[in-house]
Amino acid sequence: MVAIPKIVNNWIGDNEVAALQKKYFPKINPATGALLCRAARSQKTDVSRAVDAAKKSRTNWADLTVVRRGEILRHASHIMETRQKKLAAIVAEETGKSPKDALGETQAAIEMGYFIAGEGRRFYGKTTTSAVVNKTAMTIRQPLGIAGLIVPANTPIANIAWKAFPALLCGNAAILKSSEDSPLIALIFARILREAGLPAGVFNVIHGYGPEAGADLVNNPDVDIVSFTGSCHVGRIIAQAAGKRIARVCLELGGKNPLVICDDAELDLAVHWAVLSSFSNAGQRCASSSRIIVFDDIYDDFREKFVKRAEQLKVGPTDNDDFGPVINETQLNHMLTAIKKAIQRGARLITGGHRLADKTHRHGFYLVPTILENVSPHDRLSRTELFGPITCLYKVQNFEQALALANESPYGLTASIHTSNIHRAMLFTQKIQSGVAVVNGGTYGSEPHLPFGGLKQSGNGWREAGAEALDVYSNWKTVYLNTGT
Ligand code: NAD
Repeated sequence: MVAIPKIVNNWIGDNEVAALQKKYFPKINPATGALLCRAARSQKTDVSRAVDAAKKSRTNWADLTVVRRGEILRHASHIMETRQKKLAAIVAEETGKSPKDALGETQAAIEMGYFIAGEGRRFYGKTTTSAVVNKTAMTIRQPLGIAGLIVPANTPIANIAWKAFPALLCGNAAILKSSEDSPLIALIFARILREAGLPAGVFNVIHGYGPEAGADLVNNPDVDIVSFTGSCHVGRIIAQAAGKRIARVCLELGGKNPLVICDDAELDLAVHWAVLSSFSNAGQRCASSSRIIVFDDIYDDFREKFVKRAEQLKVGPTDNDDFGPVINETQLNHMLTAIKKAIQRGARLITGGHRLADKTHRHGFYLVPTILENVSPHDRLSRTELFGPITCLYKVQNFEQALALANESPYGLTASIHTSNIHRAMLFTQKIQSGVAVVNGGTYGSEPHLPFGGLKQSGNGWREAGAEALDVYSNWKTVYLNTGT
């Protein structure tokens, strides 16, 4: 057990500070339903304070060499590594997920830090030819200024790392608006950066509700880039607000990711990945498989094995469990209502569909693994993300139908196909409308050195992670050098 402070304040400049109006909001532990802590409920004045701190520090930070910035970030990653268990324990308390899962997520955050720190020694531009003699042409990256980072709580420390490390490496100062469901880990992350040598004011954290603190950050005229990960609904609001003042906006939004299982798939492997992709982390992954598309010939066999495995899953917050609660009660109730309404419209519930009400679970926000079928591809359930341990099965006759159905979605984040036919596999990776395509694996599982992001309503074209993440947080400047006389 890790000690959780009763109050979690903002981190501005070099200090933990209360919101100016001294307001707090409750943060509930989703595993128990009990109050975990209270966090600062920031308003516009708090956001302005954080932006002022960032303004004061950004030039000095940008003036360091990128190699030096990378060294500081590497040091921070090293501190995170030495405290990995403690960090994971905080993540587990805030999200209700098992310590084991929290540890894995923390490892992903550390790996991102090391990868991005290494980019400080690359940070490549181009040198190229010119049509003019004695003229050299090149491109260099430059910081944007101040980055506003807004994150969800599904994998909180990894979500923060994916934004903070590249934003800082590029020479920006940043203000992180933590998720209201995971404020403490954001504060601890900021303290580690400071301990690693990040100058005061370069990284600031404000807590609070999205339409208050989040919206004020998006609307602040001194914020040059808003980098947002979250729902499509909020992404749309942010894009409109930032668009009005022509600020750069990176949107990493939801998914309704298809997992296609062909008649030549290795069935047990497909079941394994379908279970993990649909239910691990309680389905709270933008990359979870919420549409499982199965060839008619093997549908019954797959369905039987998949349902059996899903019903064997243990739901709870310990390392002996397969997945934990959903993040808050509002989300849980939203999911239960969506399931109920889909059933009223004709969906068939195969298993699950209810909250765990036994003595050990009833105060937490636990939804059992839920599988539905007989859902039209045009039904709301097929087209909206629920972000919980809920998936739908669809039956198709052949590859063409599977591909068409997989692409029949407003989203385009990730996709997977299970087949032993290389032609089908290659065709799928070429034709699927998604930012990530997987063969014989899950719909999730991104790595820090590779770009991640989606098409259609899953994002607006930017990629997080990989060297591509640097494009989000820097400007290309073209430099011409004339050396002739
Ligand atoms: P959400 O959109 O409700 O909230 C995300 C963040 O936005 C929170 O910090 C919230 O406080 C803030 N916010 C809310 N309203 C705001 C506003 N008007 N202005 C500014 N900020 C505001 O999402 P959630 O329920 O916390 O997270 C789940 C969503 O995140 C899912 O849709 C999931 O697919 C998505 N997600 C996407 C990725 C990706 O990389 N594509 C990764 C993880 C999660």
